[in-house]
Amino acid sequence: MAAPEGYRPPEGDLAALRRWFGDWHDPLPAVLGRIDPVGLLHHDVHFLPPLPTYVQGRRVLLGDAAHAMTPDLGQGACQALIDAVALSDALAAAPDVSSALARYDGLRRRPTQRMAAMAVRAGRLAQVRRFTGVRDAAVRLALAFGPPG
Ligand SMILES: Cc1cc2nc3c(=O)[nH]c(=O)nc-3n(C[C@H](O)[C@H](O)[C@H](O)COP(=O)(O)OP(=O)(O)OC[C@H]3O[C@@H](n4cnc5c(N)ncnc54)[C@H](O)[C@@H]3O)c2cc1C
Repeated sequence: MAAPEGYRPPEGDLAALRRWFGDWHDPLPAVLGRIDPVGLLHHDVHFLPPLPTYVQGRRVLLGDAAHAMTPDLGQGACQALIDAVALSDALAAAPDVSSALARYDGLRRRPTQRMAAMAVRAGRLAQVRRFTGVRDAAVRLALAFGPPG
């Protein structure tokens, strides 16, 4: 559900979550009943524009630092893990650190930035509130084609 930037529900986050989702299927009501309000995080979601490189000298970015994406495809942590494996493989195989980092950047920047762009589009599509039949068909179609290669 989209909310304006910085929005805080007047009744508090936990009460609002229970109002919105408390009558959903199991186990959501039970999960909502066990949340400690002190540990509840509430942050706006931002799209990180694509970076021109993930590498600068001997510094390298991976995970959200490189390609923070909206949580609409459940892919952020998955991509961070793939980054870590790709970086580790590149460092093990390359003759020096510079060529390893260049290889990592070449392998990971394009697919992760495509995934981030796709997550934004999925989020926009999922939040369409009119023509929901067309929206649902478009989501099914997009899922049938799978993630970008
Ligand atoms: C609502 C939501 C749902 C999501 N659902 C999914 C999902 O279903 N599947 C999925 O794959 N991904 C999901 N993600 C994305 C996933 O959480 C992130 O992509 C992932 O956590 C990124 O891992 P990371 O290690 O790159 O960064 P982080 O998990 O942010 O880790 C960075 C760490 O560095 C620490 N840190 C920051 N600055 C400093 C500093 N100066 N010194 C020392 N430490 C520092 C931070 O405290 C943090 O512990 C979701 C994200 C959100 C917000």
